Amino acid sequence: MTRMILSLIFGLTLSGVAAAETPVERHGQLRVEGNRIVDQHGEPVVLRGMSLFWSDEMPRFYNAETVRWLRDDWRVTVVRAAIAVREDGYLSHPERETAKAEAVIDAAIEAGIYVIVDWHAHQPEPEAAARFFDHIAARYGDYPNVIYETYNEPLNIHGWAEVVKPYHMAVIPQIRARDPDNLIVAGTPTWSQDVDIAAADPLPFTNVAYTLHFYAGTHRQELRDKAAAALASGAALFVTEWGTTAADGDGPVDVDETRLWLSFLEANHLSQANWSITDKAEGSAALRPGASGTGGWSEDMLTPSGRLVRMRLRDANPPE
Ligand code: MG
Repeated sequence: MTRMILSLIFGLTLSGVAAAETPVERHGQLRVEGNRIVDQHGEPVVLRGMSLFWSDEMPRFYNAETVRWLRDDWRVTVVRAAIAVREDGYLSHPERETAKAEAVIDAAIEAGIYVIVDWHAHQPEPEAAARFFDHIAARYGDYPNVIYETYNEPLNIHGWAEVVKPYHMAVIPQIRARDPDNLIVAGTPTWSQDVDIAAADPLPFTNVAYTLHFYAGTHRQELRDKAAAALASGAALFVTEWGTTAADGDGPVDVDETRLWLSFLEANHLSQANWSITDKAEGSAALRPGASGTGGWSEDMLTPSGRLVRMRLRDANPPE
């Protein structure tokens, strides 16, 4: 009798857990194996989600309600906190900007999804970056949810061997001292397009992928060829930011080129976060001006880009 009750309880618990399994419960700790990102079972994993806009300009979306809405309505499995480094951001207001990162990380942990902590910089700032990531890795390094993005978009004037690689060589050991294993995504020259150059001269750390960014209205087959070359030389890539519009974040949605890119990402198991959750009046914004800062967006509050990306996320990421 006791055994029957126990097995009944155990069975119910098991099915209850299975039904409520979150993306992080399913995939767990991520790691790099060859040119793929794999999950706790060693299976290739593709995360699909949304990037928030610059934290200093759009702080009103950095909260648990927005993260929960993105998980429930857009079915994202990853969200990206784009922590602004520039003068109005972390460099002058480190505590304020760190608190925004923590709000999004805490919300992602609570929601059971992955979170990219993006050092949203164009200039190398290794001391500030090391301070920021030291804090984040010490606090959150035990959570499989957290992915570190150490350098959003290095400028084209900063070469890999001269500036960008030495920057990573300074910052990544600071993270690894606190967190030996979580995934790190390392920025590449020319606004994170020169993944082939980075792949030819890789970083000497485990569980590092390289950042690939594209904007469908500007970047085309030539950039897909660079990505294919990087993958062929054994590098793992992660598209931490992509847009449906031109590279300045504005202009019309390029539907055809977006389709080509998304097919390329799926064919190569590349994880991806779309730019961006903001109601700024520009083409790549997912929300129309005046949208709520706490989710609950009806379809008529979405822009053409927002509607396309949400529909695509809902199709690609199966419901829990
Ligand atoms: Mg860890």
